[in-house]
Amino acid sequence: MKLLVVGSVAFDAIETPFGKTDKILGGAATYISLAASLMNVKSGIVSIVGGDFPQEYFDLLTSRNVNLDGVEIVKEGKTFFWSGKYHNDLNSRDTLVTEVNVLEQFNPVIPESMQDAEVLLLGNLHPGVQLSVLENMPQRPKLVILDTMNFWMDTAMDVLKLTIAKTDVISINDEEARQLSGEYSLVKAAKKIHEMGPEYVIIKKGEHGALLFHDGKVFAIPAMPLEEVFDPTGAGDTFAGGFASYLAKKQKFDFDTMKSALIAGSALASFTVEKFGTERLQEISEAELAGRIQEFKELTTFEVEI
Ligand code: AMP
Repeated sequence: MKLLVVGSVAFDAIETPFGKTDKILGGAATYISLAASLMNVKSGIVSIVGGDFPQEYFDLLTSRNVNLDGVEIVKEGKTFFWSGKYHNDLNSRDTLVTEVNVLEQFNPVIPESMQDAEVLLLGNLHPGVQLSVLENMPQRPKLVILDTMNFWMDTAMDVLKLTIAKTDVISINDEEARQLSGEYSLVKAAKKIHEMGPEYVIIKKGEHGALLFHDGKVFAIPAMPLEEVFDPTGAGDTFAGGFASYLAKKQKFDFDTMKSALIAGSALASFTVEKFGTERLQEISEAELAGRIQEFKELTTFEVEI
């Protein structure tokens, strides 16, 4: 079981009502691969960084069994930098800075060591790059999952639609689903998005959980009610990473397995938000993860008799 991940590897500077950070480790692919490592799934990243990316971050990822053969280093270039500020409710944020830097000239190359990956997760990045990776796989992976954001809908909708048409699962938030489909109702939005290609549509609703649509069916999960949410950055990526890793592990890609995968993704994401950046993901143990999955079970299982 191998998971190939395409996405940003970045520096982030984050401001929440609880504090702010200088440039710390971030990027969609980073969160995804850290989530995969917690699921004991071997992942490999296709991305690009500058000469300013510290060795200690490479070491951290390698120590988590993340294959970095596909991460190009442009010595004289600068790593992608994103900065965001959250509003008091933590449900919305403003992007303060997006410095694309080395990502501007990125021609992804899939390393030989990852060409046989069964699951491909197209994490947040220019849809043209996502498409190029998918088209350059020697054989189509068994499952292709796409994560994207409103930024690409605003700036690259045409190529995004071409990419969406070739994927099996799309994972987006409610606002993005509305923007992509032009429908306010999430049920109608999911229908329209199915028509664009993906057989499975996941719509994330932040602290209200997520919905999975497939073939006229819908499955809903809540988010873990947490006493404190500190920094939501990377929650969506961690969720996608946990979801994809669960499926890679089980090698089954049906609706029922996806329901469980959704729980794995949500449990992992619930850790990410407890501290700044990737800090919490770096420290949790397998036992803690198992405990939270059990809490999820208790949260969502009930019997009723009338
Ligand atoms: P999330 O909070 O799940 O939306 O993901 C946050 C991560 O996405 C941060 O670590 C950023 O580095 C990364 N990110 C933000 N904007 C972009 C972008 N335009 N392209 C690629 N990655 C981005």
